[in-house]
Formats: sequence, C-alpha cells, structure tokens
Amino acid sequence: MTGPTAPPTAASAALFERARAVTPGGVNSPVRAFNAVGGTPRFIRSAAGAWLTDVDGNEYVDLICSWGPMLLGHAHPEVQAAVAAAVARGTSYGTPTEPEVELAEEIVARAPVEKVRFVSSGTEATMSAIRLARGFTGRDVVVKFAGCYHGHVDSLLASAGSGLATFALPGTPGVPESSTALTMVLPYNDRAAVEKAFAEHGDRIACLITEAAPGNMGVVPPEAGFNRFLAETCAQHGALFISDEVMTGFRASKQGQWGLDGAVEGWTPDLVTFGKVMGGGFPAAAFGGRADVMSRLAPDGPVYQAGTLSGNPIATTAGLTTLRLATDDVYAHIGAAADTIKTAAADELSKAGVAHVVQATGTMFSIFFMDTAVRDFDDASRTDSRAYAAFFHAMLDHGVYLPPSAYEAWFLSAAHDDRAVQTVLDALPVAARAAAAA
Ligand code: PMP
Repeated sequence: MTGPTAPPTAASAALFERARAVTPGGVNSPVRAFNAVGGTPRFIRSAAGAWLTDVDGNEYVDLICSWGPMLLGHAHPEVQAAVAAAVARGTSYGTPTEPEVELAEEIVARAPVEKVRFVSSGTEATMSAIRLARGFTGRDVVVKFAGCYHGHVDSLLASAGSGLATFALPGTPGVPESSTALTMVLPYNDRAAVEKAFAEHGDRIACLITEAAPGNMGVVPPEAGFNRFLAETCAQHGALFISDEVMTGFRASKQGQWGLDGAVEGWTPDLVTFGKVMGGGFPAAAFGGRADVMSRLAPDGPVYQAGTLSGNPIATTAGLTTLRLATDDVYAHIGAAADTIKTAAADELSKAGVAHVVQATGTMFSIFFMDTAVRDFDDASRTDSRAYAAFFHAMLDHGVYLPPSAYEAWFLSAAHDDRAVQTVLDALPVAARAAAAA
C-alpha cells in the first residue's frame, strides 16, 4: 500500500516566492530553507501542542519544536496566559523588572551558576561569555571543537587549519583572518588534542568553549568523563571552561547536560550559556557562572556588555512560566516518547536495510545514516545525507516535520502524546523504504 499523496503546497510555494524576492533565500535563518533536503519549505500558520499547521492547511507532528525551545509544546495555555497578562502591562520598559529576577533565581537554582546576565540570543550569550573570559583572564586565545556551533560569532565561525596550522581559518567569507587567528579548533572527544593544545599554548588560553553535548552535528555525546577532563584541564592552566548549554539547557535533562555529568561527578563549569527553553519561545538567552567571574561585568566590573531588550519582560515571563512547568514528569514523558520513536525508527531502518546509528544524550537524540558510532565532526560528515533527504520527505508527506538537515537533533515536547507519537510510528516504515531506495 502506498501512503497518502503528497500534501498540497501551493500556498507555501507562493509565499516562498514572495519571500525570496525580499529576503535572502526566502528565510531568516538558513536551515529553514530546505536547501539540504530540497523542496519547498512549509510556511507555518499556527501551532498547538505537538502539531504545526501550514498555510495550505496540512498538519504535521513537530519534531523541531522551534529547534529546541518548545519543551512544553506549542501554545501551552499557562504560558499563553502569563504572556498575555505580561503584554497587557506593556512590552518593554528599559528598566529592571520582577520577572527577570525570578527567572534568574530559577536558573541559579537549577544550573551550576551563581549569577546570570540576560541577552536576546544564544549568539549574544556565547559572544559575551568569551569577552568576559578574556577580560577576566587577561588572555586572548579561545579553544573550540569542530562541529560545535555556538551561534554566528565571528571568532567561532572558524575552521580547523589544514596540516600543521595551529590556529583556525575563517569558516565563512566576511570573517577576517584576524578574528579567527586567536581561535584553536580541535576534534571533539579527543583528549590528546586538548592536552597538546594546552601544553603548547596553555598560558595564552582564555577559555575553552564546548557544547555541553554537541547537538549541532547531530547528537554526539561526550565520552564518559570528557567534560570533567575539559573542566580540569582548563583549571590546571588558569583558563575558563565555558559550557554552552543553549541547546541542552533544561532540555537534555531538568538541569541540562550538566545534570547528566557534572552534577553526578561533582564538578562545575566556570561559565555556562543558555538559550532556547529558558525563553519559552521568545528571544531570550543568558550567560552565567562563578560570582567572581560574573562580577567583572559592567556595571560591577570593567568588561562591557549591554542590550536594549535584554531581560525583556515578555520573554522572561514566558521563560519563567515554562521552567516552572518543566517538572520531572515533563522530562520523564519526553524521555519515554523519545525512546519509543528511537526504537521504532531503528527497527524500521533495520528492516529496510538502511545503515543507521541512533545517538542520544538525555532526552535529545538524532539518527545518523551510517553504520559506525559518531564521536566527532569527521565521523558525522560521513552520514548519508541523500538517504536522509529521502527519509525526511517521506516523513513530511506523512505528516511529520523533521529537521530539514541530516545534522540536527530531533526535539520532542511534553505535548507529544500517544496520537502524535503514533503518527510518527505510522510514517516510519514508508520513510525507511524511501531511504533504502535513495
Ligand atoms: N549555541 C548552541 C549550542 C546552539 O545550538 C545555538 C543555536 N542553535 C546557539 C549557540 C546560537 O543561538 P541563537 O541561534 O539563539 O543565536
């Protein structure tokens, strides 16, 4: 039996045409454009719970969840009510407000940070954390890992230099060599590379920044003890350890990735960046950490950092309401739904004879279309993106909206109930066969 015919896309196609006339690529963030998988991106008109509705009236189970933020699902009634009440009181004052204090207290209670400063995007959070680390240590060099994405900060859009080059090259036109000349890019999960970098340049290294568990090359969990090793290596050399939890924070577990390793092993990062879930679907992000480091920030200290809409009352209200509702039950539910989908996907791909590896950290997971485990970016880049594109489109045709790229985590929410999960399970066999035929 074949599945339903492909859903109508005329209205999305018409909007995409108009969008392309006035916006580069027709989108405001590249991966939305389907360039990696082909086809017309769906323009979404509304969302509720686990479901998206596009402008042609098609419904999809959402496995993107706004790339992480929508932990409770879309249009959660309590979040909506809190936001509506906040909007009624005015949308931005440029003064301190109560919700930002409450959200900061909530974050400090859950995560390994003593103080936080709010910003409006994950990019701003990592950019500011790096400035603070440089200001605090008086050093310049930043270490990062290939395949870890920290937003579009110039110095972090860096590629490993070829051969013996120690320092990085610009990862995109528009970033000058001077911006990446102080960045070192190492292979993920590679202790020897970290030891060598610190042995050779330790006294110049201001910080090492890593995704707490990489999700931006697909999910590549840190090997056991790797984050602890990074924290200890930084400490030995007087560098700061920045754990980027923009994606994993309040998502991989109630306490983020740190809840899965640091809290168990007994170490803390010096600085942590947050975004996504803590903004409840609004533009809010943060960086935080040790009080002595954070007190170097203006106005307490000399390191400048600021933002007109930082700590915006609507965004902080949405984030606060989301985090307060993100109880143990929510994580248990998402974990169970993820397990059901992971198991079914692996079964169907096996039956169809498609090479695959399922990788996860806490409630976050992704599937690589290849037959060996992925421990770094070189491994991840061997995933079969043609097979993924075929799989993606078959899932989309059967009402499941996966990330339109083979290198992304799949996100679930508390609203992914039996009906939503069943829709995913029903789509998997056809999609697995489509991947086999690609
Ligand atoms: N860090 C990580 C780990 C991320 O996943 C992202 C976004 N995907 C960012 C930073 C940048 O966040 P934003 O897109 O809000 O600038």
